[in-house]
Amino acid sequence: MPGFEFFGEEERKEVNDVLETGILMRYGFDGARKGHWKAKELEKAITEVFGAAYAQLTSSGTSALTTAMAALGIGAGDEVIMPSFTFVASFEAVLSVGAIPVLVDVDDTLTLDPAAVRAAITPRTKCIMPVHMCGSPADLDALQQLCKAHSLILLEDACQSIGARYKGKFLGTIGDAGTFSFDFVKTITCAEGGVVMTNKKEVYVKSDGYTDHGHDHQGVDRGADLHPFIGYNYRISELHAAVGLAQIRKLDTFLALQKKNCALLREQLAQVPEISFRRVPEGGEDSCTFLSWFLPTAEITAAVVEEMRAQQVMPGSFYWFVNNWHYIRKWDHLKQALALHAISDEQKNALTALNSASFAASDEIMSRCISTSISLLWTEQQVREKGEKIADAVRTVLAAHAQKA
Ligand SMILES: *Cc1c(COP(=O)(O)O)cnc(C)c1O
Repeated sequence: MPGFEFFGEEERKEVNDVLETGILMRYGFDGARKGHWKAKELEKAITEVFGAAYAQLTSSGTSALTTAMAALGIGAGDEVIMPSFTFVASFEAVLSVGAIPVLVDVDDTLTLDPAAVRAAITPRTKCIMPVHMCGSPADLDALQQLCKAHSLILLEDACQSIGARYKGKFLGTIGDAGTFSFDFVKTITCAEGGVVMTNKKEVYVKSDGYTDHGHDHQGVDRGADLHPFIGYNYRISELHAAVGLAQIRKLDTFLALQKKNCALLREQLAQVPEISFRRVPEGGEDSCTFLSWFLPTAEITAAVVEEMRAQQVMPGSFYWFVNNWHYIRKWDHLKQALALHAISDEQKNALTALNSASFAASDEIMSRCISTSISLLWTEQQVREKGEKIADAVRTVLAAHAQKA
């Protein structure tokens, strides 16, 4: 899964370029930086590799989402429809611009269920934000149709699906804007970082200014820049961008290894007829950061997790249903609206209403789902052993279960 597994000479070389000049900031100091513009180079590489017209680097995936929302004009009182299964950053970004997160069910793609999205649209809906979870796309055709019919913005949280595609195009480049995260455990890492991608010049120009205190970057130097709007500091540093620059050149290698190891593991698990796999929407191409698989019931799944723990094969596999970063069930801080500062009544009411909302359809899916992260470093032998151990744990539980029945 993560690019950090391949950290080496190439990353050190790029970082050393920056250390030698000591110009750690992405803007200004034109002479002293001796031609090194790592953030600019990485932005150019991102547009070339992924085919987005524009790319604006940021300090994190979370700040990339916040920036995209601001640049798309999403703000106070606007409803943003997002999935119940994601990473906490998705709702953090919505809340940060004063908007209201509207959480809806996921289906067996582990992403937004288009029917649930349709049912959640109100006159205040401004944006649909699919999260392409665990390397695989949401049903973007269905979501784009809803956006068209209701004049809504499509913002793709592709933070954990770098290199996955939908109908030939890279995730994150299809909506009005899309984001990647380059945090330490993502497919490409900068240690910390993120990017807003868009095909709309206006969204890019606003993102560029927003991440740097509203600077228009048109002055002869930073002091002469104008500030056409209020921004923040969500800049990436040259050191972080340097790491990403070395990493993006290895992306094809990462993806090829993920696909190979994932296919092998899947082959092993598919030998157990009770195991099924996450559905990829038609036209979708999984980046294979995870192999996500289902068992027949929640009870069996919980028992398999216990058995995998006992057999010491659970590390690297995730039972999201009980995880407090990724699934609504355990987001108590969100449901209790535990903000450090005052938030609007609209936001507070929407958050506390989550306590009584039903996510039965998501529960049905997530309570039966285990995702196994795919390492770049596994040998074929190691994948086979891992697959065999997991399959054995499942068979043990199924046999005990059959005996009970
Ligand atoms: C990692 C991630 C983010 C945010 O990333 P950071 O860079 O850690 O802020 C946002 N959304 C999803 C789905 C993620 O997995």
